[in-house]
Amino acid sequence: MLSRHPVAGTAAGPAAPVLAVVGAGAAGTLVAIHLLRELRERAAHADVVLIDPAPEVGQGVAFSTTDERHLLNVPVGQLSALAEKPEHLLDWARCRVDPDVSAADFLPRRCYGAYLAHTLDAEAGRCEGARLQRRRARAVALQPGADNRDRLQLSDGTTLLADGVVLAPGIFAPGTAWAPPALLSSRRFVADPWEPGVLDAVAQGAGDVLVVGTGLTMVDVAQSLCSARGTVHAVSRHGELPKVHAAHRRPAAEPAELPEDVDLDIAALRRAVEAHVRDTVRRYGDWRPAMDGLRPHIARLWARLCDDCRAEFLVRDGRRWDAHRHRMPHRTAEQIGRLRSSGQLCVTRGAVTAVDDDGSALLVHLSAGDTRRVTHVINCTGPLADITLSGDPLLTGLLADGRAVTGPLRMGVATDGDGRVRAVDDSVGSLWTLGAMRRGQLWESTAIQEIRAQAACIAAHLAVQCAATDPGHRRRTVHDPPLRRRGVAEVQSVVV
Ligand SMILES: Cc1cc2nc3c(=O)[nH]c(=O)nc-3n(C[C@H](O)[C@H](O)[C@H](O)COP(=O)(O)OP(=O)(O)OC[C@H]3O[C@@H](n4cnc5c(N)ncnc54)[C@H](O)[C@@H]3O)c2cc1C
Repeated sequence: MLSRHPVAGTAAGPAAPVLAVVGAGAAGTLVAIHLLRELRERAAHADVVLIDPAPEVGQGVAFSTTDERHLLNVPVGQLSALAEKPEHLLDWARCRVDPDVSAADFLPRRCYGAYLAHTLDAEAGRCEGARLQRRRARAVALQPGADNRDRLQLSDGTTLLADGVVLAPGIFAPGTAWAPPALLSSRRFVADPWEPGVLDAVAQGAGDVLVVGTGLTMVDVAQSLCSARGTVHAVSRHGELPKVHAAHRRPAAEPAELPEDVDLDIAALRRAVEAHVRDTVRRYGDWRPAMDGLRPHIARLWARLCDDCRAEFLVRDGRRWDAHRHRMPHRTAEQIGRLRSSGQLCVTRGAVTAVDDDGSALLVHLSAGDTRRVTHVINCTGPLADITLSGDPLLTGLLADGRAVTGPLRMGVATDGDGRVRAVDDSVGSLWTLGAMRRGQLWESTAIQEIRAQAACIAAHLAVQCAATDPGHRRRTVHDPPLRRRGVAEVQSVVV
């Protein structure tokens, strides 16, 4: 349980600054954890308000699954919420999950949500100056309020005045532009496989299903449905599955040479990456260390590409990149292999061209000329990238008001190097964001390791602001911990 306190000033003193975090998935929860730690260490006061209609914090789309077969795709040793304490998750898992867990193990994903909730709760209990509050509602609008504050309007009809707002709304549901009209209007179409409980309903029936997409979400769906019902047919244009983690992980291989041009050419970058991969395979017999070694350089390289080059990368290289970068655990791959061998999972190359509903099933016509008769079609084509199509009232309003502008290729919003949202006049202020919302700006911005660093950076800045505006602060604290202490890589100036 989280600590609950009223968000208001007391008769004894002025109201503490209010820091609102919109979204309590992994990203919002990591921001709140780091905020409470930073505020405590700086002996600063603030009310941290975590806003999300979801019943639990820390889960979001990725970690709300209850299926034990859905594993994290990163080993325990790399997923601590606190970069400076790499064993934090491991210690928690040994206490709460299994005393024999090792740093190389892949936990069920539901454990990670529980870990984040537990860590937040622990920080809230430890923090004297800062108070944590949960609001179970959606933020639907953000407008300027009095005294340079922001007025957040919530779906429960209340409003909240905030001194700083962090947007952590996560990924959008998959796009449906590929689906024929007859499928879109069918009750047998599962447009969003991440909607809580939606797959449970499908698992209860009998008969085959068709999954469109063959990435990690298809892997989840296949694991949940294959034992429950007929054949799962998975189809994508390429028919390829995500790659698999090595049984024994090697250290990342640092690229010997990457192009340093300010205006980077995509063909030159492709050549450099391919040379790095070839060189790594020659030295270690494995391409994976090459991908891991590229990771710290990605944001810098992406920033040097023009939009045309980025768009070309997405079309020509994006799928191949994702398949190699976001890999399956070995255990998952073995299970998928067994399902394929037994015929419970059939993966084919192709696209959906037309759909007929005969009343009892869907007849799905594929580009190769064959037809599948299935009870459901499940959309596993990956999250919608274009923020202008999200339909989210808060984000649509921010773009319409000029408080935010779209990021490169409309993948999220434009930000500065620390995650402050850029307004239409290029200014930045008290609005911050992280995770999928910075995908256009950084490309790799949706995995926990990137989100954790972004959350720490935002929290450090906000805590410095709170300390600087808190009249009692100088009396309470001996020194301010430096901003860079926790691996906050991109800290720039602090706007108070
Ligand atoms: C199926 C799946 C598995 C994954 N597995 C891994 C993994 O193993 N390892 C890894 O590193 N990454 C994984 N990822 C990547 C994943 O995106 C991140 O790890 C992380 O979970 C993203 O968290 P988030 O908080 O940004 O987004 P989300 O999980 O989408 O959470 C966003 C939250 O914001 C809330 N929200 C949205 N809009 C509003 C609003 N207007 N007002 C209030 N609340 C709002 C939503 O209700 C939701 O709870 C996975 C992703 C998916 C989809």
